[in-house]
Amino acid sequence: MRKIGHVVTRPGRTLGDAPVDIPVPQELETVPGIPQNSKDVSFYSREYPLQRQQVEHAADTEWAHSVGTDEMQEYHHQHTGVMEPFYPLMNRSGDLEPTGMPTGEDVTELIKNKARELGYLDVGITAHDRRYVYEDRRNHVKYPHAICLALEQDYVGMQSAPSMSAEHGHYGTYEIQAPMGLQMVDYIRSLGYHGQVHGPSNHSAATIPMFVQAGLGQLGANGQLLTPHAGPRCRLQIITTDAPVTYDHPVDYGFHAFCQICQVCVNRCPGRALSAEKVWWRGVEKNKLAYKRCRPVMIRYEGCAVCMKVCPINRYGAKAVMEHYLETGEVLGKGTPNLEGYTLHPEQSGQYVVGYFGPGELPVFDAKFFDIPKGTRENAALNELVKAVETEDAASKPPEADEALLKFRDRLRDIVHGEAVSDSTMF
Ligand code: SF4
Ligand code: SF4
Repeated sequence: MRKIGHVVTRPGRTLGDAPVDIPVPQELETVPGIPQNSKDVSFYSREYPLQRQQVEHAADTEWAHSVGTDEMQEYHHQHTGVMEPFYPLMNRSGDLEPTGMPTGEDVTELIKNKARELGYLDVGITAHDRRYVYEDRRNHVKYPHAICLALEQDYVGMQSAPSMSAEHGHYGTYEIQAPMGLQMVDYIRSLGYHGQVHGPSNHSAATIPMFVQAGLGQLGANGQLLTPHAGPRCRLQIITTDAPVTYDHPVDYGFHAFCQICQVCVNRCPGRALSAEKVWWRGVEKNKLAYKRCRPVMIRYEGCAVCMKVCPINRYGAKAVMEHYLETGEVLGKGTPNLEGYTLHPEQSGQYVVGYFGPGELPVFDAKFFDIPKGTRENAALNELVKAVETEDAASKPPEADEALLKFRDRLRDIVHGEAVSDSTMF
């Protein structure tokens, strides 16, 4: 039996459940939250501000429409139809005036109880750290405190990822979360304060750093927030507010060190997009995901999410995983088909590998598989022009070349003069 370093006590899964004690093995203790160099975080934020995925990777979002399976395309339209009415309501929520009279008293417990009553799995509060705000959302965020809300995604569907069932769990959670966030804002306004909801999809900042700061989990090797009850199987949302609240603190759940021993997601990723070693990136020590190796898999194979599905903390919860490690020194479920196996279903082109992959087996893709449009909308427009120039016959100077140039100019005009970037991250 290994030695317990400390015990973390968290509220139970649902309101009214007894608190849960999670023993953290001494050998897995590192720091509360994540190792970071605050000066570097500030430097990168100032000199290289974060961009929303919808901005930084708009080219592959446009491309994704043409390669998702028919079923994904259909589901995309259906999900977009559900979400569209919520985006303007969420985006304007911070402009609404309070409806109640403020007492000036700390409302932390009222807000946390309300969140749990509505069905959020966990809630924590911290400062809204402007260093993580996306460049094009800097004027959008109005209030200084961040209420971090984690909503659990369907358990059963996720265990079959990649699958449409898992995707329904993923985006279905967004469809529940959007109105729940608006209800939270209404409640905060009834207490006499402002509230502004950010996410799902239309986030204003990178959410995970603030969730870690609020003690709701630690960053996993799969690039996702590992929460104690559901591991990475949570969808995140932040409400900023000017209500008087008390901040939570980062917690060491042992995940930062545990990931280096576990490595299941790293070994099972079909795109080999996850790294075994930690690096320092923008002032934080983490396992850095290679986006360009993940995105082609995610788009073609029903959202992929193998890295979420195979995480033992998603499957068994942190308490069971840590207790098993204390007793055996092993990772619960590692090496078993139940945890590690997955099936890649047919993708749209019919060119790439499908079938079941058990522990130790991985699909193989050629370089063409990973060659997808990259960068912003401006990059995508320029690449179209480059392609047209490459294929033209320079000697004959065909009119198509001018057409491509005019199309490029018109596209830039649309982008520069206000065609809004989508709020959705789906396709
Ligand atoms: S979504 Fe799939 S391809 Fe992307 S990191 Fe996770 S396992 Fe790898
Ligand atoms: S699968 Fe293992 S290595 Fe990956 S995030 Fe989960 S605990 Fe960490």
